[in-house]
Amino acid sequence: MLPFKLVYHEGYDLNLGAHVFPSKKYRMIRDRVLADGFAEPDDFVAPEPAADEELLLVHQRGWITRLKNGTLDYLELLKLEVPYSQKMVEAFWLAAGGTTLAARLALESGVGFNIGGGFHHAFPGHGEGFCAINDVAVAIRKLQGENKVGRAMVVDCDVHDGNGTAAIFATDASVFTLSIHQLNNYPSIKPPSNIDIELDDGVGDEEYLAALSDELENAMREFRPDLVMYVAGADPYREDQLGGLALTKEGLKSRDRLVFESAREIGAPVVVTLAGGYAIRVEDTVEIHANTAKVAAEVVGK
Ligand SMILES: [Zn+2]
Repeated sequence: MLPFKLVYHEGYDLNLGAHVFPSKKYRMIRDRVLADGFAEPDDFVAPEPAADEELLLVHQRGWITRLKNGTLDYLELLKLEVPYSQKMVEAFWLAAGGTTLAARLALESGVGFNIGGGFHHAFPGHGEGFCAINDVAVAIRKLQGENKVGRAMVVDCDVHDGNGTAAIFATDASVFTLSIHQLNNYPSIKPPSNIDIELDDGVGDEEYLAALSDELENAMREFRPDLVMYVAGADPYREDQLGGLALTKEGLKSRDRLVFESAREIGAPVVVTLAGGYAIRVEDTVEIHANTAKVAAEVVGK
């Protein structure tokens, strides 16, 4: 039995068919952690889709309505970069429900792990880069509204800048945003986070970990979040098709450990969401995400 639950739903699969975003990865991660004996069926819990009212804590009503009704215009669809389907829409509602559930579980057991979510390119009134609903922002606002969380920190380690999240919380002093990403990569316009760590092309394990640890430990000590939202993208991996950094699988495990341990030092629970991962071999993406759960279990079990 794991020391925390894994939040998962079959409906997480966006059913994109042949697309660079391997949305079958969610099911593959579930299968993998079961097959290798890390998790048992009882370790999983399924979320409900988020309610529209919860999404409205972050998103504009028009965006939610157009998404649900399938009335996005041509430019909106172009920016989103995923084919429209009812399944796709349901998957985003489920991911938001899943991240909120993971956040509730984190407050109970120290870690909440969503095998999904991390859609950090979603803005209040539009989606882009495969992200329609900003599940991380929805979960924060929902728990803040219930007075379960005061200050939250987003630690976004996806190779791409967390532009949507940065924009959503730009004037919200209760949420601290940190994004460590490749500078010369999507999105071209990067709204400022509280801390942006901008990396040159080809940065490897050592340089990445040094840059992250300095900023992260200071930020945690100064801001003292009640909850840490860890956006654990697998795409800083050296063989990623949409990333230009050079981290190894071991380096990514060290990154995970750094985030979990620095949160633990100040007693802050951590919510994991997966975000991107486009390795040439989808099995590598799956392994990197599964490793994040394993490192979490090691740190929590200490
Ligand atoms: Zn990414």
